[in-house]
Amino acid sequence: VTSVAVVMAMRSEAAPLVASLRLREVADGPEGLPFRWYDGEHHGVLVTVATNGVDSRHGVDNIGTNPAVLNTWLTIEQYRPDVVVTAGTAGGFAARGAVVGDVYLSEGDFVFHDRRIAVPGFTEYGFGRYPSTDVTGLAGRLGAKTGVVSTGNSLDGTEVDLQLMAANNASVKEMEAAAVAWVCWLSDTPVFAVKAVTDLVDGPADTAEEFLQNLTMATGRLAATMVELIALLGESGWPPE
Ligand code: SAH
Repeated sequence: VTSVAVVMAMRSEAAPLVASLRLREVADGPEGLPFRWYDGEHHGVLVTVATNGVDSRHGVDNIGTNPAVLNTWLTIEQYRPDVVVTAGTAGGFAARGAVVGDVYLSEGDFVFHDRRIAVPGFTEYGFGRYPSTDVTGLAGRLGAKTGVVSTGNSLDGTEVDLQLMAANNASVKEMEAAAVAWVCWLSDTPVFAVKAVTDLVDGPADTAEEFLQNLTMATGRLAATMVELIALLGESGWPPE
């Protein structure tokens, strides 16, 4: 059985996928930690959806790179998946052809845009550039776009962030993928991203408002793509043809 682990930040991002696949919550998940895991079988694939859970101090979802790292590490230790998918929502760049509701699969390397370290050697370390598995074939079969995914710990972007994202040809911007990819690189686990666009970084709307307005639509599309993707992996195994 091919085993796929899907790491996701927010409850609302994961809910449509967990429901579509009829996954059950893992009773003996990581002890004393906020992460919530769901698993089940779909087309012969063992699917684990590992969500980051809630920060009990602040009462909101654990988004950003820190929870992503810890949850990804524990999920890999427990399931030894053939592949990790970092899935969720993202801001898209209209300048690179993104439209709200698009689903992107990752291309090239995962980069960070908010780790600026002007010390010899550390500049490139800051960008990270941890590799994505080449899933252009899968994207074609799914009718999804492909592009570079850029990660930072803020929902907004400073002028410098935006310059760096442009220099790295980023198609989408979010807050977890490069952190997940770092853990996968450490543990020799293939990884790619599936990201649904909730908002346009270079569009006129307020990002937070646009995000909330499109969240249900985008997570629905994300779930539909993931269900189809897992069925394709069930047919072809890993790596996909
Ligand atoms: N106000 C929101 C906060 C969501 S933060 C709330 O309801 O709690 C945004 C989350 O979606 C992050 O996990 C990030 O990965 C993703 N995301 C969507 N659009 C983004 C953007 N434009 N920039 C950065 N992250 C984005």
